[in-house]
Amino acid sequence: MKVIHSINQMFDYSRKIKGAGKTIGFVPTMGALHQGHLSLIKRARGDCQIVVVSIFVNPAQFGPGEDFKRYPRNFVADKKICQKVKVDFLFAPRVKEIYPQGYCSYVRVKGLEDKLCGVFRPGYFQGVTTIVHKLFNVVQPDIAYFGQKDFQQAVIIKRMVRDLNIPVKIRVLPIVREKDGLAMSSRNKYLNRQQRKEAPILFQSLQLAKEALKKGERNSAKIISRMKKMIERVPEAKIDYVSIVDPETLEDVRLVKGRVLVALAVRIGKARLIDNIITDSTD
Ligand code: AMP
Repeated sequence: MKVIHSINQMFDYSRKIKGAGKTIGFVPTMGALHQGHLSLIKRARGDCQIVVVSIFVNPAQFGPGEDFKRYPRNFVADKKICQKVKVDFLFAPRVKEIYPQGYCSYVRVKGLEDKLCGVFRPGYFQGVTTIVHKLFNVVQPDIAYFGQKDFQQAVIIKRMVRDLNIPVKIRVLPIVREKDGLAMSSRNKYLNRQQRKEAPILFQSLQLAKEALKKGERNSAKIISRMKKMIERVPEAKIDYVSIVDPETLEDVRLVKGRVLVALAVRIGKARLIDNIITDSTD
């Protein structure tokens, strides 16, 4: 496995690999790798001849007062994990090279970026789309892998790729969970023991929504209200949103028909946790 910090070096390798007619699978991450990341890497390993993983804690997607400084970083452990699963290139660019002095170009996916998490984290998706576009330019992947965990991110990136004619396929893989249902996340490290015990309430509330839909409830407001009540049983939980939306447009759905995304963001202690399920009321 080659560890690369320089953009030019990564770019040269990518060009050579593509010139040799090989396929590149790419998994962008912010590091502190866990089984969720690994599911993406393993899929890339199965699909493509060359696998590139990037680790970059992107300052442009953290707002003032957010956790950029304390975001978990463990490059040594991440490197070992990547070696073990036979990653070919670990690309960890430096902030100064990604955003040199005078940097002023950003990608925006209007409309989609203002919904759900975008309401609570202004500028967040602009930071995400900008870095992902830059990484695509450097790595030149055939297929890029994202987790359903960040559903809105995946929808926005798919739209960016379509709108800007970026020659890459986007694959979105299922959420990997702990045994008790909590979605794996680098941010779960912020939870203390008590909070960690309580955090599966988020997944349980999503299950409640699924069950309610299965039983024929079609009124989103009623389902959301029951979910919120359940989450509020955890005194420390502070709900940013619980929403039922169209999975393509991310617009609120009042009366559920067909496939919907049930998504939530809840702060517990220092952790802001997100989770979601896609469910089909016609199933
Ligand atoms: P991050 O390092 O948190 O920016 O995540 C990098 C990629 O891993 C994103 O595409 C995430 O959606 C994905 N990911 C994070 N957690 C999970 C999970 N629990 N299951 C599946 N994919 C995940």
